[in-house]
Amino acid sequence: MDSRPHPSPLVSYHGGHTLFDGTGEPEAFVVRAIEQGFTAFGFSEHMPPPDPYSYTDFPTFDEARHLFDGYVEEILRLKSAYRDELQVLVGVEIEYLPDKESVITDFLNAYPFDYTVGSVHFIGNHTFDFSKEAYDAGVRAFGGMDPWVEEYYRLVRSLLDMGVTDVLGHLDIIKIFADDVAGYRSERVRGAERETLEAALRAGVVLDVNARGLIKACAEVYPGSELLAEAQRMGVPATLGDDSHRVDQVGARLDQALDAIRAAGYLTLTALLPEGESIIRRALPI
Ligand SMILES: [Zn+2]
Ligand SMILES: [Zn+2]
Repeated sequence: MDSRPHPSPLVSYHGGHTLFDGTGEPEAFVVRAIEQGFTAFGFSEHMPPPDPYSYTDFPTFDEARHLFDGYVEEILRLKSAYRDELQVLVGVEIEYLPDKESVITDFLNAYPFDYTVGSVHFIGNHTFDFSKEAYDAGVRAFGGMDPWVEEYYRLVRSLLDMGVTDVLGHLDIIKIFADDVAGYRSERVRGAERETLEAALRAGVVLDVNARGLIKACAEVYPGSELLAEAQRMGVPATLGDDSHRVDQVGARLDQALDAIRAAGYLTLTALLPEGESIIRRALPI
């Protein structure tokens, strides 16, 4: 783990995954976040994808729904138990699936979430972030990188248009297994990115500047430096996400993500904080 001291403020709104593809007790994530001096830590467990979509090793949608009841209950307990030491938020990472918008909405209405992270991990039925093989199969099916990446951003815009996203998850995760991470952003891709940032601005979302890309094949923060700088110029606010799936990943590499936010020209990061019954946004100087 990175041992450089974390500059404050320290927050994360994407992470604390324990139910399906992560391990550890949520309480241990909270304790670790307190040890590191976090101001706020949001749990954003994956919304289980409904049939016919599926992730390897995830339970069925009905089983997962049942597990989710316990998850929400436990995070609410932690939120109250640790109130004086850390702002704990209960969130969810929703999955954009074009033919399942009503399932997503019903799911969100079923729980008292403080906020949502909106992400795209499926392009058609290609789950592209699990393996290079699956990713390459998707690129081939779409006839090359440009149409593949354009379709990804089209789905992100549809997600934004739903109006249910607070934090936009790992915006350029589509680079995860690109053959040429430094060079895949053609004019067409940049056009799709710009259109998507405009949609993000209209939707009023906060960008998840996500450290997990650093340990993936692309070896970069999501979003990459040029895209993040463009987001800054356009006025899209940014926040941090450790995308932790284990306790020892809480806060990991957030110093690098924070450096990326500063390098992009941001003077503040945006925190979501509970205030009474609502969640407010606060711009914290960095
Ligand atoms: Zn996950
Ligand atoms: Zn994700």
